[in-house]
Amino acid sequence: MLKLLFLSTPVGSLGSGQGGGVELTIQNVAQELQKRGHLLEVVAPQNSVLKGIKVKTIEGNHQIAVQTQTRDVPICLPTNSVLANMWEYARQVQNNYDLIVNFAFDWLPFYLTPFFARPIAHFISMGSMTEASDRIMNKVAQKYPNTIGVYTKSQAASFPFADLCHILGSGLDLSLYQFCPQPQNYLAWLGRIAPEKALEDAVAASKITGIPLKIFGKIQEGDYWQQIQQDFPEAPIEYMGFFQTEKLQKYLGQSRALLMTPRWLEAFGNVAIEALACGVPVIAYRRGGPTEIIRDNQTGFLVEPDSIPGLVEAIEKIDQIERKNCRQQAEGEYSLKALGERFEAWFYKILSI
Ligand code: UDP
Repeated sequence: MLKLLFLSTPVGSLGSGQGGGVELTIQNVAQELQKRGHLLEVVAPQNSVLKGIKVKTIEGNHQIAVQTQTRDVPICLPTNSVLANMWEYARQVQNNYDLIVNFAFDWLPFYLTPFFARPIAHFISMGSMTEASDRIMNKVAQKYPNTIGVYTKSQAASFPFADLCHILGSGLDLSLYQFCPQPQNYLAWLGRIAPEKALEDAVAASKITGIPLKIFGKIQEGDYWQQIQQDFPEAPIEYMGFFQTEKLQKYLGQSRALLMTPRWLEAFGNVAIEALACGVPVIAYRRGGPTEIIRDNQTGFLVEPDSIPGLVEAIEKIDQIERKNCRQQAEGEYSLKALGERFEAWFYKILSI
């Protein structure tokens, strides 16, 4: 039995959607490890909620999401930084735990690693973003073998320390996602509404095909969303809101396909496996995490990156995909049990148990 202290992302509270896919990953990993008998506490910004997990909330100002910035951006902390406050708390209680697990992408936890008495495992949830973060992550990767975990190989390949990354993938509580054999006539798009996700490409494809697009997720950049509505006044799109899993999976399950159109190198794409779990094929650009998830022509289509005609062509042949193959893939590869086993093995390796 391990005593684990998880430190969440400082860009927003857990459950807000501001942190993106890593929020779901924290919920899932924590839930499964607790089920396996480990003792666990999660440290997270104020107003955070997790189902069935003890959360220590910490006040302070959120960190600005790094993906909105340029590669040469200096390291910045707001006044009364929640990130600094969370790590101050971790320093104080570290001796009650065997291992600290960092889920923040930020520079500070990597920098602090040698100053802690307890070992720190770092789960990196995005590809390479800035020079400063690459540099500090590389230092930690070299000095503390096995302590860097990532979602996928494509994500690891974006870093100078690719070979030192432990690949952990992702997983879901599949019992929360229902298989829907017969879809209605609409497409789905899920995620943070922010430029790196290129929602406009999915909207353009919906307009060309005439198939309605339902959009789910946190509006992270309001101006960006306004612009899309202005640019596509006649597209058959509908913004549904930011939903919790139960409601989200119901609407997602009834869609004919999920469109994933990220402009950046998507580290994983939790939305892809959520769709598969509901029996929904995924159409995604052939780049980053989705290339390691989707089985081209079997559980979806991988199309040329940034190609709207590519999306349209894939949408037109979507009925060729057997929806039960999608659910089967999720069951075979993305169970919570398998995810828990991988994280557990990673922790034991770090602790040389
Ligand atoms: N999501 C949600 N409600 C919504 C739309 C999206 O909870 O209405 C969640 C979804 O379950 C997923 C996350 O938002 O976990 C998006 O994560 P993903 O890994 O796809 O991308 P990221 O935001 O990490 O870049």
